[in-house]
Amino acid sequence: MKTAFHLDDATVVAYAGGSLSNCLSVVAASHVAMCDHCRAKVRRAEAVGAVLLETCEVQQMKPDALSSVFERIDGSDWVQPKTRSDASDDPDPSLPLPVSRLLDCRLDDVRWKTAGPGVGIHVIEKNDDGSSLYMLKVRPGHKLPDHGHAGQEMTLILRGAYRDVIGRFAPGDVADLDEHIEHQPVIEDGEDCICLIATEAPARFKGLVPRLLQPIVGI
Ligand SMILES: [Zn+2]
Repeated sequence: MKTAFHLDDATVVAYAGGSLSNCLSVVAASHVAMCDHCRAKVRRAEAVGAVLLETCEVQQMKPDALSSVFERIDGSDWVQPKTRSDASDDPDPSLPLPVSRLLDCRLDDVRWKTAGPGVGIHVIEKNDDGSSLYMLKVRPGHKLPDHGHAGQEMTLILRGAYRDVIGRFAPGDVADLDEHIEHQPVIEDGEDCICLIATEAPARFKGLVPRLLQPIVGI
């Protein structure tokens, strides 16, 4: 698929190095599955990482190094997203594999919770640190509330299209935004826009109504 908007270079490096958060990694992996350009960049970053590892000076590890890493893993609140074991036996071929592995049904059968007029939400993962992974389904012509971000926000378009100050986002495109961007996506006429969204922290809505709805809908 030829996409217009891609992962930021810093995101590619973090994804290839395994340091991207769980929620953001799902969106990155989904875009990479749809985008030859970013897939090639991830492979290059992985190759560079492998060379760096080979050329790094070997350092003596402390005797308890491995056990302390395992303790940190055991004590973390990192949550493994659902995988194929509890997902549908009939994955949606219209979706990239990392997304279909998280759903227990096809995209057309997702049960959406109302998040405001014209907006449905399906929360996939929500963590105590404020990060979350969810899908939005927004009706044609609808204008989403003006908002900024407290951290990185990645949005992958699965169906339909929207426009904002950056440009037009269509299926396969990813909006990889940091806390400096404020935007108000407007859905194109014709069909619902369905997006997969990962955030490091809850969005900062400007309007009172979306701010009041935010804790209720869970983003
Ligand atoms: Zn790309």
